[in-house]
Amino acid sequence: MIKLTEDQKLVLETVKKIAVNELEPRAAEIDEKAEFPTHAQKIFAENGLLNPLLPVQYGGVEMSMLTMVMILEEISKVCASSALLILAQADGMLPILHGGSEELKQKFLTRLGGDSQLLTAFAATEPSAGSDLLSMKTRAVRDGDHYVVNGQKCFITNGSVADIFTLYAYTDPDKRAKGISTFVVEKGTPGLSYGKNEHKMGMRGSVNSEMFFEDMKIPAENLIGEEGTGFSNLLQTLSQNRLFCAAQAMGIAQGAMRYAINYAKERVQFGKPIARLIPIQLMIADMAASAEAARALCYRAAEEFDAGDHDAGALHGGMAKFLASDTAMRVTTDAVQVMGGYGYMKDYPVERMMRDAKLTQIYTGTNQITRMVTGRSLLLEK
Ligand SMILES: Cc1cc2nc3c(=O)[nH]c(=O)nc-3n(C[C@H](O)[C@H](O)[C@H](O)COP(=O)(O)OP(=O)(O)OC[C@H]3O[C@@H](n4cnc5c(N)ncnc54)[C@H](O)[C@@H]3O)c2cc1C
Repeated sequence: MIKLTEDQKLVLETVKKIAVNELEPRAAEIDEKAEFPTHAQKIFAENGLLNPLLPVQYGGVEMSMLTMVMILEEISKVCASSALLILAQADGMLPILHGGSEELKQKFLTRLGGDSQLLTAFAATEPSAGSDLLSMKTRAVRDGDHYVVNGQKCFITNGSVADIFTLYAYTDPDKRAKGISTFVVEKGTPGLSYGKNEHKMGMRGSVNSEMFFEDMKIPAENLIGEEGTGFSNLLQTLSQNRLFCAAQAMGIAQGAMRYAINYAKERVQFGKPIARLIPIQLMIADMAASAEAARALCYRAAEEFDAGDHDAGALHGGMAKFLASDTAMRVTTDAVQVMGGYGYMKDYPVERMMRDAKLTQIYTGTNQITRMVTGRSLLLEK
């Protein structure tokens, strides 16, 4: 049983209120219209929730990983797209925090502090480089006090709306993993353009963009760390964002289950609530057990990160990612089943949750890749 501090209790109370009063009422609409949740962006910024992990020295609130996980969980119970906004912000910020010089942190991280609504993104994926990120083609070539970048990215969350983003590109393709570097890029940089925003199955209240770079000039000072450190920077960020994805997934699972339970108590067939039927009870029991297991693993990984044990946090965060997302997929599918035909209709939120859950099995590293990484680390690494 996790014992929350007074501060954590206060944050979570605020988050719950925001989720119920501000996010839940608009969740169906932003899904239907595929609308970016500017209302969530504003209210998160006003309450220090847009960048929960940002250190105090850069104007942030510096919450723990555990608090971050609980925030994502709470919001995902009602609107996973709004939770994705916080997740994408962390993805854009962490590479700078992990690898940037103090000067670079002062230049960019301070812009995320206070009640800033500035948006960030994390740009790694390309059309031919999804799971196989080392086959990325985007190239950055040093030219005096600039890098000139050519290439493209796809599926980037917040892509076309991000004010700044972290970009992964080869500075020395022959060196493979040791030849990738990370840069901070600002919106409006000449040579940066956007293609389509994707038309998606779920998480429709988020923007996912194609991005193109044509002789895009970035100041050399925007290089994060040294040349060639980009891939390790990327893996470090991924190890944390897999846990955030897990938190989102287990929040979705709980939201769907809660809805199905309430419905089952009300829906009468054969003269009694379907909650009295054994097959419904068995389904709910399985949903609850797997959601609780996913939750426990997420909390464990978060506590390990907070204790400074990055290896254990990454290992259990990876496990939490595939366990929680598979759980979310199954629980949301069963929630639709518990509700019968009504579950299938857009009048109720569980069909949206089922569509949203699917993404958690795919992004931040597919579950196949995440299982392989986990298996390899258990079998082949000391
Ligand atoms: C909505 C959305 C938001 C996203 N946001 C971002 C973002 O903000 N930034 C970003 O950089 N990227 C983002 N992505 C990209 C995401 O991380 C990739 O889609 C994901 O890593 C998988 O890559 P892919 O889609 O190219 O699939 P592929 O790599 O082509 O995989 C296809 C299938 O093959 C399997 N597969 C591939 N290689 C192996 C292997 N070696 N062994 C076993 N199975 C394998 C996969 O598991 C999958 O089932 C986003 C994607 C989506 C859909």
